[in-house]
Amino acid sequence: MTSFSLVFKDQIPLNDHSVSIRFQVDSVMPLIAIAGQFVRLHMQQDDGFDTFRSYSIANIFPTEKAELAEIEIAMTWVEGGLATRKLSSMQPGDRLEASGPYGRFCLLPDHHQRYFLIATGTGVTPYRAMLNELKNRLEQGAEIYLVMGAQDAPGLLYEADFRAVEKAYDNFHYIPCLSRRMRDEPALNDRSGYVQKFLAELDFDADSDIAYLCGNPGMVDESFALLKDKGLPVTLIKREKYVSPPVKKK
Ligand SMILES: Cc1cc2nc3c(=O)[nH]c(=O)nc-3n(C[C@H](O)[C@H](O)[C@H](O)COP(=O)(O)OP(=O)(O)OC[C@H]3O[C@@H](n4cnc5c(N)ncnc54)[C@H](O)[C@@H]3O)c2cc1C
Repeated sequence: MTSFSLVFKDQIPLNDHSVSIRFQVDSVMPLIAIAGQFVRLHMQQDDGFDTFRSYSIANIFPTEKAELAEIEIAMTWVEGGLATRKLSSMQPGDRLEASGPYGRFCLLPDHHQRYFLIATGTGVTPYRAMLNELKNRLEQGAEIYLVMGAQDAPGLLYEADFRAVEKAYDNFHYIPCLSRRMRDEPALNDRSGYVQKFLAELDFDADSDIAYLCGNPGMVDESFALLKDKGLPVTLIKREKYVSPPVKKK
């Protein structure tokens, strides 16, 4: 883990409540991260207490482990949120203290036959970071299911990146699960309902499968229970819940 500054570069809308934010890394030590890890952005509560918010690194890593000169995050605005207020008012050149990388939500060195990469919302960004290593595993014969939950099609963040992989590899399956509104023109593998509904239809094999769950805590908990009930050992269900730390009090 290292401490560094992030210099705000720009912000691009992903949909009407999420943006992609790019920062330049200003660090004495090189920032070396593994695809799937996250950084902490440090800030102060309104009463002055130091706190932080965590964000997965959304860059597509050139290799599984890479030195990053720039960091991209996908941020969903939360009404009244501390980081939301801070990040939505940043201008090019503004600085933010940060630390990282953190986390073990990364591809394990041992290869599996089937990967289930399950996400809601910005929880899909670790899988975007992993794309090049996922391609390596596809070329070695793995079957990969990217199961993406969103209310509607605009919520399918980075869909074009995953569709491009789906086009290039028969063994990569992008499964959008739309819980509120289907597309007028359904796209390949579109499903209605939560990701849990799709998972409930499958059988899992402890000898060949591994699952990753990232994003909304409710989705992570429910899917974890479901996969466990279907016989996947807990060591083969990796989880990352997107929550804020508790508010600090005197
Ligand atoms: C390891 C990790 C990685 C994460 N990566 C990302 C990421 O890549 N992108 C991202 O956008 N977030 C990510 N998060 C969540 C992020 O850290 C913040 O929790 C989130 O951005 C809200 O911060 P905030 O300060 O704006 O709102 P807060 O001040 O934390 O919250 C304000 C209010 O909104 C509620 N709230 C918080 N989050 C939500 C929500 N999602 N929906 C509805 N209400 C909410 C809170 O309970 C609180 O009442 C991650 C969290 C973890 C632990």
